[in-house]
Amino acid sequence: MEDPIHELDLESDLEELRKTFKSGKTKEESWRKSQLKALLSFLEEQEDAIFNALMQDLGKHPVEAYRDEIGPLIKTVNHALQNLKKWMSSKKIPLPVVAFPATAALVPEPLGVVLVLSSWNVPFGISLEALIGAIAAGNAVILKPSEVSPSSSSVLADVMQTYLDSEAIKVIQGGPSVGEKLLQLKWDKIFFTGSKRVGRIVMAAAANNLTPVALELGGKCPAIVDSLSSSWDKKMAAKRIISAKFGTCAAQACIAIDYILVQKNFAPTLVELLKAEILSTLGEDIKETNFMARIVNKNHFSRLRNLLREPGVEESIVHGGKLDEDNLLIEPTLLVDPPLKAGIMVEEIFGPLLPIITLEKIEDSIDFTNANPRALAIYVFTNDKKLMKRLTSETSSGSIVYNDAIIQYIAETLPFGGVGECGFGRYHGKFSFDMFSHEKTVAYRGYLVDFWFRYPPWNEQKMWLFKSAYRFNYLGVVLIMLGLKKS
Ligand code: NAD
Repeated sequence: MEDPIHELDLESDLEELRKTFKSGKTKEESWRKSQLKALLSFLEEQEDAIFNALMQDLGKHPVEAYRDEIGPLIKTVNHALQNLKKWMSSKKIPLPVVAFPATAALVPEPLGVVLVLSSWNVPFGISLEALIGAIAAGNAVILKPSEVSPSSSSVLADVMQTYLDSEAIKVIQGGPSVGEKLLQLKWDKIFFTGSKRVGRIVMAAAANNLTPVALELGGKCPAIVDSLSSSWDKKMAAKRIISAKFGTCAAQACIAIDYILVQKNFAPTLVELLKAEILSTLGEDIKETNFMARIVNKNHFSRLRNLLREPGVEESIVHGGKLDEDNLLIEPTLLVDPPLKAGIMVEEIFGPLLPIITLEKIEDSIDFTNANPRALAIYVFTNDKKLMKRLTSETSSGSIVYNDAIIQYIAETLPFGGVGECGFGRYHGKFSFDMFSHEKTVAYRGYLVDFWFRYPPWNEQKMWLFKSAYRFNYLGVVLIMLGLKKS
């Protein structure tokens, strides 16, 4: 898609949003609710348009689209509608005795006009999770979805936009040049989902205006697979791994399993279990069954093909590996011990290639994981409580999930976000409201009592009084209040 940069007047769009925000309209609970309800109507009434767009952009099966995008979004909007009043209310905060008489509260206020830049892989889910939070918190918003999923972006810009108050919420289509132009403007927050490369550009641009940013980036999420005790557990683990890898947008997902770590002596069993699950859940011919999404475009297809063509990689394939460029399909592919220096083990794969790295002992997975940049998620399949305890305390990641994968994404009660290089800022549910709010301290003091010793001129006695007060010496404080120690 061509960038429509010349037709856009981003400055006047932003100005209109600023004017609306200044009017106070977006702060009203009734406005926030009306926009959230409008999003709900969009999701319910435009289900077919969303399914079609996701099929065109990614070949995403409607059931998968509902499971991963429409369903979680409906849940998120309803959760926000049910809790909005509570989230918007101020919280009373106790103050120390020395401040008597005083009261204080934390009052959430919207940040202002915020920019949401999103990625193509979960085009509705990612854009709207952020949008719901920004609206619930009372902000005006510009959303720029990704040009790489053009059908979804056009449903967001042409269809969803008609449901929303365009004086306060705008969806702008375009690619990097529109993104760059937007970044030159002054925002009250930038919420970015995408690659580390562009994340750096966003952060540098935001620094010019001291704009706060949230970066939801990618990385390599490992799955550590222990030799589980029962055959049921082994089979279930394999099913969940296959679903989290190949059944989630063909692993074009930031929290998809990137690679597996397994003990050498369990690897052959695991490979057989994974092969069996691929066949039973996705079928023998993925083009025919259509249960696995396709690669988003030719560029990404070539990128993945190049990963397979690096020396030593193709030889490590133990299942799959067939490429269908015309239909942008890549067979679910398992590789055992590809070279650790190859791109497939260095870059985020973001596609249906699953390297399995064998280790002498499963405990070696801790050092292996720690030797790499921190991941958005670590998945561990084990029954060993001691190993769980060690992994929780000795590794760092956005989340760690035992015996399943991806489930952390759909729980609105859990914050979603990264740590270290995979990004910062957490959202979903109430955390999204917090992401787009400032909790303002509002303190109130009365005139009844005044501590004479807080003012100069300074002397020894005042020092003693401060020491008593700050060390919770309440007798000292009482004496101070009674004025008995007044010099
Ligand atoms: P990307 O960085 O290429 O693009 C993201 C957004 O930035 C798009 O809207 C794009 O148009 C815009 N953009 C591109 N270049 C720009 C520039 N120079 N200036 C301003 N804006 C620019 O990322 P992508 O390919 O869309 O997404 C894939 C990446 O996103 C993967 O790394 C994946 O792991 C990550 N991701 C992370 C999460 C998360 O929640 N952490 C979720 C989904 C995807």
